[in-house]
Amino acid sequence: MPGTATSRTIEAARALLGERLTTNASLREHHSHGQDTQTPVLPDAVAFVETTEETSKLLALCHAERVPVVAWGAGTSLEGHVTPVRGGITVDLSRMTKVLNVSQPDMDCRVEAGVTRDQLNTHLRDLGLFFPVDPGTAACTIGGMCATRASGTNAVRYGTMRENAMGLTVALADGRVIRTGGRVRKSATGYDLTRLFVGSEGTLGIITEIQLRLHGIPEAMSSATCQFPTLRDAVETVIAIMQSGIPVARMELLDEVQMEACVAYSKLEGLRAMPSLFFEFHGTPAGVKEQAQQAEDIAGSFDGSGFRWATDTAERNKLWQARHDALWAALALKPGHKGIATDAIVPISRLNEAILGAKEDIAASGLTAPIVGHVGDGNFHTVILVPPEPDGLARAWDLDKKIVNRALDLGGSCSGEHGVGIGKREFLEREHGTEALAVMYSVKQALDPRGIMNPGKIFLN
Ligand SMILES: Cc1cc2nc3c(=O)[nH]c(=O)nc-3n(C[C@H](O)[C@H](O)[C@H](O)COP(=O)(O)OP(=O)(O)OC[C@H]3O[C@@H](n4cnc5c(N)ncnc54)[C@H](O)[C@@H]3O)c2cc1C
Repeated sequence: MPGTATSRTIEAARALLGERLTTNASLREHHSHGQDTQTPVLPDAVAFVETTEETSKLLALCHAERVPVVAWGAGTSLEGHVTPVRGGITVDLSRMTKVLNVSQPDMDCRVEAGVTRDQLNTHLRDLGLFFPVDPGTAACTIGGMCATRASGTNAVRYGTMRENAMGLTVALADGRVIRTGGRVRKSATGYDLTRLFVGSEGTLGIITEIQLRLHGIPEAMSSATCQFPTLRDAVETVIAIMQSGIPVARMELLDEVQMEACVAYSKLEGLRAMPSLFFEFHGTPAGVKEQAQQAEDIAGSFDGSGFRWATDTAERNKLWQARHDALWAALALKPGHKGIATDAIVPISRLNEAILGAKEDIAASGLTAPIVGHVGDGNFHTVILVPPEPDGLARAWDLDKKIVNRALDLGGSCSGEHGVGIGKREFLEREHGTEALAVMYSVKQALDPRGIMNPGKIFLN
């Protein structure tokens, strides 16, 4: 049962939101976990907010009574981000789905936090514009993507949420509402609060609106696949392509285990269970042809073979849908297993050490763990399949730690895109150093002095 303060806050929140404040058991269960292996915890109530004003009023109530608040977009995060470890109220923003405005000449737009990336791109299609950040699940919201500083297959060309969020509306822990950033391409005024909230995982405030940078739909797009005798050859190809400055839009690596999974799950014809690269090139028809030829030449010098080009939209979509379904394909390899997805990132020149080292760790662990990743920016995933045995989770976390620690040894980061949540907290001190982490904590204390905003995330205490 919730404590007295929480019960009082729930009653006051019900007066504010009516039946959009719910203690319904199945809705609380739905909001007790994300897409992760952390232990679920039920929130005491779930609030479906529809405006910034409601969000602000709800936060003021929770602040007054010191009731924990967890923001929720679609719950697709992978590190225990949305688990309400101290109970309280989960604030679901999925009903805030308005595209507030789009400026074609300025190539920007303002959206409410619950808009999903697919909804936004459907809205933009007839204007010749698109929003490029594409995490592997279409369900995630722009607010959640901002809060996790998400990226995807296009980041190597178009950047992540860090580069594409220009400004925000944020309801702070005590209910104050601020606007950060703006619509200009650059500004030299004051601290960059937009960058502070992007990646803050709901620990500093709730983002209710986002100003986004948009991009023109390229005149021509072409995709390609290429297969390699060894993983080392595939990774050397990636490094050489990046160093030669070819402006690839997407470049994804799949090892032979992930390819076996994807060929079977997505029915990819003509591809084998071998280390592979999936490419996409954007530009003018002549530019795309030239980029593709350069990439093919480089891959050829590392024994890449079987180049297959696809300019046909249906064929391209099938390839990228297969890539986006890589997690589900990996899970289908071992029915009954769960998955832990690592997302370490290293400087591009150290990618072979990181990936081949991970391969050795996987072999030594005896676990199955396909490798797939947005390697153009040095980021790769290991989908560690957790056996349904008493020590399965412990073995999987042990492997996860080895892969992450090697990435840190190589000058990388424990998370290129999924974020910290609960799962990556233990690596933050090593990655950032004690003093920098203490500065981050003092920012948290300044903005959330009562510690109500998504407690237990990012920081260990
Ligand atoms: C199959 C699969 C593939 C994925 N592939 C990728 C990938 O390629 N790249 C990638 O970056 N991620 C990937 N993810 C992870 C996930 O999709 C992203 O982290 C996504 O950004 C989460 O969005 P969401 O709306 O589901 O947020 P949620 O999971 O609901 O929330 C995530 C975090 O943000 C906070 N939050 C949510 N909304 C707000 C808000 N409006 N204001 C403040 N805080 C908020 C929450 O409290 C939580 O801490 C993948 C996940 C799955 C299941």
